[in-house]
Amino acid sequence: MTDRRENAIMPVMLTDDIAFVGDRSVSVHALLSDEGIVLLDTGFPGMLEGIGESLEALGLSLSGVRAVIHTHGHIDHYGNTADIIRRTGAATYIGREDADIVTGKRDLSWAKELGLAPAETFQPSFTFSDGDVLTPCGRRIRVLHAPGHTEGTYAFFIETKAGGVPVTAAMHGGVGLNSMSRAFLASHGLPLSLRGDFRCGLRRLAREKVDIVLGNHPQQNDTEGKIGRMGGKENPFIDPSEWGRFLLACETDLDRMLAEEADMEAQK
Ligand SMILES: [Zn+2]
Repeated sequence: MTDRRENAIMPVMLTDDIAFVGDRSVSVHALLSDEGIVLLDTGFPGMLEGIGESLEALGLSLSGVRAVIHTHGHIDHYGNTADIIRRTGAATYIGREDADIVTGKRDLSWAKELGLAPAETFQPSFTFSDGDVLTPCGRRIRVLHAPGHTEGTYAFFIETKAGGVPVTAAMHGGVGLNSMSRAFLASHGLPLSLRGDFRCGLRRLAREKVDIVLGNHPQQNDTEGKIGRMGGKENPFIDPSEWGRFLLACETDLDRMLAEEADMEAQK
């Protein structure tokens, strides 16, 4: 397994109780509470040592992880979950539509497409559905179904505080279009309607008031650039206009992909 630590991003507290502990390839966030740590996703296989070191740099420990919530069932988001369960006995959560991927029943993890060995599978402790409110370790996380990238991709809305002020942080759990191409959907017997579902989800999510955008991958919200601007008077992660702009950009990307596919089809 490759050591992925050359991708390291400095771990930081984005808010009073949400830490970024992922790397350049994929985000991992830690929600802190008196009852333990809740991880949002567990990264690619091979990232666990780096996640542990990031937690330690913030005075935390991997052994404090009590729960793991997954955005969707791709290998870069559950790559270390089985290992974490073994080490800490953490409870695990995933959207009900993607549960069969992480148990290994359905071959949709993207390991093959990314040229990786499959990640170790696991049996989720809990599955969630649209509108559920999860309360691991006393945290409050509202989940909204946002399918498209996978059938069981969800967005998370997290109540947190920044400088003692209550704010809402949110993450769209998967916006990559690679898994929404006509070719990919057809090859896996998935419905083309997932693209329309994705668009509907983006518009529905845009109605939510969000103060802080969390990236599912750090490029989505310029995690690194913002970390570089931390330490001043303002928290660079707080930007109530970013959520709407981000979702709109996702819809523009979808339109571009659909137009390119239509062009290719017309040239045949
Ligand atoms: Zn994915």
